[in-house]
Amino acid sequence: MGVVAEHRPTAAARAVQVAVPRPLRQTFDYAVPSTCPAPAPGSRVRVPLGPTRTIGVVLGPAETSRPGLKPIDEVLDPAPLLPADLLALARWLAGYYHHPIGRVLAAMLPALARRGAQAPAQQETVWQALPGAAAALQRAPQQRLALERLARAGGIADGDLATAGIPRRVLTALRRKQLVTGRHALRLEALAPCEPAEPGFEPTPAQRAAAAAVVASLGRHRCHLLDGVTGSGKTEVYLRIIAEVLRRGGQALVLVPEIALTPQTLARFRERFGTAAVLHSGASDRQRFDTWTKCAHGVHRVLVGTRSAVFAPFARLAAIVVDEEHDSSFKQQDGLPYSARDVAVKRASLLRVPVVLGSATPSLESLENVRRGRYARARLGERAGGAALPVYRVLDIRGERLDRGFAPALHRAIARHLAAGSQVLAFINRRGYAPTLLCARCGWQAHCDHCDARLTCHRGAGRVCHRLRCHHCGHQRLAPAACPACGAEELQPVGTGTQRVEEALAERHPGVPLLRIDGDTARDAGRLAADLAVVASGVPALLVGTQMLAKGHHFPNVTMVAMLNADAGFLSPDFRAPERTAQLVVQVAGRAGRAKRPGEVWVQTFDPAGAHLSALIGGGYLGFAEQEREQRAAAGMPPFSALAMVRAESKRGDAAQTLLVQAAATLAAEEAVEVLGPAPAPLVRRADLVRWQVLALAVRRASLHRALTRLEDAEPKVPGVRWTIDVDPLDTF
Ligand code: ADP
Ligand code: ZN
Ligand code: ZN
Repeated sequence: MGVVAEHRPTAAARAVQVAVPRPLRQTFDYAVPSTCPAPAPGSRVRVPLGPTRTIGVVLGPAETSRPGLKPIDEVLDPAPLLPADLLALARWLAGYYHHPIGRVLAAMLPALARRGAQAPAQQETVWQALPGAAAALQRAPQQRLALERLARAGGIADGDLATAGIPRRVLTALRRKQLVTGRHALRLEALAPCEPAEPGFEPTPAQRAAAAAVVASLGRHRCHLLDGVTGSGKTEVYLRIIAEVLRRGGQALVLVPEIALTPQTLARFRERFGTAAVLHSGASDRQRFDTWTKCAHGVHRVLVGTRSAVFAPFARLAAIVVDEEHDSSFKQQDGLPYSARDVAVKRASLLRVPVVLGSATPSLESLENVRRGRYARARLGERAGGAALPVYRVLDIRGERLDRGFAPALHRAIARHLAAGSQVLAFINRRGYAPTLLCARCGWQAHCDHCDARLTCHRGAGRVCHRLRCHHCGHQRLAPAACPACGAEELQPVGTGTQRVEEALAERHPGVPLLRIDGDTARDAGRLAADLAVVASGVPALLVGTQMLAKGHHFPNVTMVAMLNADAGFLSPDFRAPERTAQLVVQVAGRAGRAKRPGEVWVQTFDPAGAHLSALIGGGYLGFAEQEREQRAAAGMPPFSALAMVRAESKRGDAAQTLLVQAAATLAAEEAVEVLGPAPAPLVRRADLVRWQVLALAVRRASLHRALTRLEDAEPKVPGVRWTIDVDPLDTF
């Protein structure tokens, strides 16, 4: 006994538990050679693993120590790269999503960090305004503005001056006048307090109350649902909350569905706080790691980011905002299939800070959490600045002859609004020219060689169907001139996408600026910015787009929204389809009439008396949500049960199915878990893989977790099959 007891303390201190990025549930212990300092939890280490080497993250001291442990090769971070709260979050993620911890950590780290790059140098100078300095600059407006921005931000790193709109020569002038100081210390303690700017208007009583409720909960955990109709000034509420967080020396994280699409929102943050950092997929790996590190060191006080920003490290994170919390882009679809909204709530609870979930169309899950008393609710029932909510007009198109998606009455209404000097937005949930290319002689249709899907016609080179593209796997090819089956030159695009709508509108309204915003045009950030600037200028214009147009834009001069096929989504078999369609309709509609002139929303439908559309138009989103909640309760679907989907894919026909038959049996062994399937995925073959799925459902989440743990333990294997667990899946069909 003596021997073990004597060895343990020293041996434990010299061995660490490491998570490696492999699909393995277990972690590995490694010895720390006496030549290197013991790495702290959250540091990266290079370790031998089987025949190769890899980069892992230290979770803590090894729990037991054995002689003969392999030593780590190298400690990459002298100080932890991941702070303790993120390590705790990683453990939770691994458990909740039944995902290997090493893979979870890899998903949390920026790509460069994952590959072992050194954290960006922390020697950069941070510029700060000296207190009261602005008074000396009555006659130098540019310098004065720069100084104000520095004061609002509490300090701006040298490399971020350009994004903050501070030209180098202006800084040089301020330095010469000794109105700014530069420091190397990047710790939050070293920075000056922030002085956020005041908005140009008074908050409404509802905005004031909503912000006050969240501010009152600073310093402890509370989840607030900010349920405010479109244009009600939710962003203003976030800004007020964050201003208070900054005055108290904290940092704030704001998650948004999409950044490129909402430059105005970012501009408002920058205006108020001098600067705001952004983290999104468009940034280079180097920029991402840099921004990430600056958040960890407190240089950035406000971070606005998409999904993965929920994993950014902070020195003093004091509040989290999730804007458009209902948006499905918060859900990661592959790798670690997490919901950034749900992770944000968990992170806030681990940190004991408030989190605000904002939306005009809250998810049924969040509404149910309010109902059960878990979330507080703040409501903004009216539009800010006195604007009225838009009026719906349902257009029955049964038996109508449509011109490229438009009923004659819709065309006439658009012409009226343009003539009145307004802008009109036409919404269609499909990009490209037409969803099908058909041979009028023999009925041949263009299909993807790799998926069970039709190819979409895309315009180009003067042809309406120049390229054929698969919207599922990305495959594309030139469209044939003649039918490959019968040789007839009678190929016709069938159906309507954004490009065809654009064509129809351009013919009818020559000379009116016409902008198309969809997945194809949004890739070009410069063009998108120019287009949005035209809309912002307020001239009469036509906008055509997909759901990208629904996301958070403020278009003051749009008075009419035309929805060509919005309610088609109500027909989908997915249990979430009605909720998602209603959200889309309300969000697109919400772009109309956001300023002085009232808005009209025209909805074309083949089913004007349909229950979903009637509930939505009659009772608004909340009325619809109430009805939908009853449906979900009756069907025992979320939020009245917990779901997980097990998916399997393989090259060979039946292998995925074989594996899932085993998986289904394992899951079903857990009492109180209902198992549906295996069934083929809605698109059985995609990118040359055959895909099957099993759905597990339980009233209590704990039962579901037990079933999934059984499945992990059983580790079903069939050669050539890859399978994954998706907890809280968004799509079940
Ligand atoms: P939401 O995020 O709810 O869609 P926004 O925050 O974008 O709404 O606000 C819509 C518009 O109303 C913005 O132009 C904003 O500047 C303006 N606004 C917000 N609050 C007020 C207020 N209290 N008084 C006047 N205008 C306001
Ligand atoms: Zn043919
Ligand atoms: Zn394809």
